[in-house]
Amino acid sequence: MDVYGLIGNPVGHSLSPPMHEAGYEHCDIDARYVTFEPPADGGAAAVESAAQLGVSGLNVTIPFKQDVLDVVDPDPLAERLGAVNTIDFQTDPPRGYNTDAIGVVRALEHHDVDLAGRAVVVGAGGAGRATVFGLADHGLTVDIANRTTEKAVELAESVTDSSVSGTATGQGLDNVEELLVDADILVNATSVGMESDESPVPAEALHGDLAVLDAVYSPLETTLLRDAAAAGATTVDGAWMLLYQGVEAFERWTGESAPVEAMNEALRAGLD
Ligand code: NAP
Repeated sequence: MDVYGLIGNPVGHSLSPPMHEAGYEHCDIDARYVTFEPPADGGAAAVESAAQLGVSGLNVTIPFKQDVLDVVDPDPLAERLGAVNTIDFQTDPPRGYNTDAIGVVRALEHHDVDLAGRAVVVGAGGAGRATVFGLADHGLTVDIANRTTEKAVELAESVTDSSVSGTATGQGLDNVEELLVDADILVNATSVGMESDESPVPAEALHGDLAVLDAVYSPLETTLLRDAAAAGATTVDGAWMLLYQGVEAFERWTGESAPVEAMNEALRAGLD
């Protein structure tokens, strides 16, 4: 039996175990997916121990995504981003990936969104960083709008300093209306809208030529997504992003095409 898992602190409410195990069951793979909660300074040591114990793959969440860089061989995207959320132990040293970044891209592709043109990403924290690098890696021009302007500027500079093909600008959240006029894609990567009926973007700024992805997945239908649907935009809820980071990890670990529908069903059952 293969063992996969998640390290984070905390990991108590993770939906990854049912999502991945639905995938193993559907593909008849003899494997389990378990969660581990090392102490806050124990991320790298946990990865080294997992390698010794014969664990096949690990997802990595807060607060360990940067710490584990020291004990893996990151692929180019994870290295540029400076964060790893998926480790494959089939090589020595283990290979590190960032499927959060790829998850955003695949969630948009699932909804037939053309990955070209201009994207506005609201937020410059962990989810914002992964989203910006994922989109810029596909050649998009990304305008980052964040409450704390300096963080948006710093993130844009790190995109410019890396070798991704796209470019980025960093701005204050006040500029979001203006930025959206020419935008094709909008991603909310702030926590605004989580368990509340607020939106980080005024409804009047949304339009029918936009595809809007909200990283927030609790609730699934956020105020932003309701406003976006009313404006005629394509909407993508946060569970799609969560799903596709898992799908991408599943495929890298097992070498098989992930059963997206089965994994999506298991994930959404946990979110209801
Ligand atoms: P984080 O690193 O703490 O970053 C939070 C971001 O939200 C920052 O840009 C912060 O701006 C902004 N923000 C917080 N409160 C705000 C407010 N009242 N007004 C405007 N901006 C505000 O958090 P994170 O890990 O990136 O997570 C952000 C959201 O994405 C959460 O809801 C999380 O659940 C979700 N998420 C979803 C997925 C998925 O797969 N769907 C994956 C990861 C995260 P400042 O810089 O100004 O503080």
